[in-house]
Amino acid sequence: MTDTSTAGPRVDDDVDRLIGARAGLFVGGAWIGRAASGRTFPVTDPATGRTLAELPDGGPAETRAAVEAAERARPGWAATTALERSALLRAVAQRLRADTERLARLITLEQGKPLAESRGEVLYSASFFDWFAEESRRVQGGVVPAPSRTKRILVTRRPTGIAAAITPWNFPAAAAARKLAAALAAGCPMIVKPSEVTPLTALALARIIEECGFPPGVVSVVTGADPAAVTAPLMDDFRVRVLSFTGSRPVGELLMRQAAATVKRVTMELGGHAPFIVFADADLSAAVDGALASKMRNMGQTCVCANRLYVHEDVADEFQEALRARLAAMRVGNGLDDGVEIGPLVDARAVAKAGAHVADAVAAGATVVLDGGPVPGTAGHFFRPVLLRGVDDTMLIAREETFGPVTPIMTFRTEDEVVARANATEFGLAAYCYTNDVGRAFRLVDRLEFGIIGLNDGIVSTTEGPFGGVKGSGFGREGGSAGIEEFLDPVYVSIGNV
Ligand code: NAD
Repeated sequence: MTDTSTAGPRVDDDVDRLIGARAGLFVGGAWIGRAASGRTFPVTDPATGRTLAELPDGGPAETRAAVEAAERARPGWAATTALERSALLRAVAQRLRADTERLARLITLEQGKPLAESRGEVLYSASFFDWFAEESRRVQGGVVPAPSRTKRILVTRRPTGIAAAITPWNFPAAAAARKLAAALAAGCPMIVKPSEVTPLTALALARIIEECGFPPGVVSVVTGADPAAVTAPLMDDFRVRVLSFTGSRPVGELLMRQAAATVKRVTMELGGHAPFIVFADADLSAAVDGALASKMRNMGQTCVCANRLYVHEDVADEFQEALRARLAAMRVGNGLDDGVEIGPLVDARAVAKAGAHVADAVAAGATVVLDGGPVPGTAGHFFRPVLLRGVDDTMLIAREETFGPVTPIMTFRTEDEVVARANATEFGLAAYCYTNDVGRAFRLVDRLEFGIIGLNDGIVSTTEGPFGGVKGSGFGREGGSAGIEEFLDPVYVSIGNV
């Protein structure tokens, strides 16, 4: 059921066109234009400060309605055949690919990344719907050894139940897509709570899902200015059996505590603090390419961004100069403009944090190799890249996620030393190392305490790989054959009297 007559206040026709519906929340198959609270909240373009939409400010009433709709839809959705779910998921993938330009523009408008990256994000999102369309057909059970001759033991798999997704602002399409595609493939309804900073892309995705013919209630998208007000009914309701969270560590910890009360399964994709290690035997030009790809994607705002560059002292000057030249040549501006490689940061807080990391390092003795920082005189949250040398492990930038285009170079002498320094963090999401020594490469894979390792590779996200972290970066995996497991329960059947 689509009720566009009640859809939200009109702000920008172009944005409504990009979403595919009048901007509103999507609950139980209907578009909600007015929240029970009667309030709205603005979504703004970080490049211009312009209000893109005024969305209904969702809260407990909308979330509760989404849970009731999911509960109504749950038995029917769990009973669909794998082939039926697969066909629907494939249809979503096809629509995403066909609508790449429209959706990419929406991502850039609300999040800021350059259009080329947004196109990549849409295609990456489509790849999860394709992948899980296949995985839904490969869910298998088994027959395991029985304890006596008169028994048989079967193992079958069942969808876990209603799932909730809470997603961050840095990948408005992909963060939702990789959760949704896996949950839907497994036969679970899902309620998505996108970040209040970038909710429009998830609504556009909901519109596509609706148009592809998913039953009402199988997918809802609810958000609001106060995230805790939206999520409380999800966390409190026993019928919500899985929480898949991507975001910061403090919020992840809070949600884990809340999930304990209803014994939910949780998967946590939390922050990172990736080391990027360049050995003297590495192909330096490939290492510079990799460092740029890893560090500068989404203006430095990804969980797998290189945050600490450790470069062997013998090659540090050469590496630094090559990286400086490439960073200096990158164009900063509105992500919608041709040739822009660095869009705005998400908000003023992000600009302040990147600036604080630079100021702290400089005050403690670091040298500025490439001077950048906030761009004055604009309503956008622009920050030109900064390259630092002489950074040590005590500085703020070496201790926490920067989430901005600031690159610190630290030097090292030995493999043992750099492994110890790389591992000296509570985070364990991604690590990168560049070396042409095969033995060393194998040792590093064993010794670096991270869930994802880029070995001579600066781009580590792949649909087919089990994406996720260890230690304080969380647990659970998205993508790969592990991704669907988060939404399935094994059930074993003990058959007697055989
Ligand atoms: P965040 O933790 O502030 O927000 C994430 C989500 O949680 C948003 O939807 C937000 O509205 C919601 N939220 C915030 N406070 C809440 C509360 N009290 N109760 C319930 N929900 C709440 O993170 P962010 O700033 O949106 O995203 C950046 C963070 O996400 C970084 O730390 C980054 O490393 C991490 N991240 C991790 C991955 C990964 O796969 N590991 C991917 C992308 C981003």
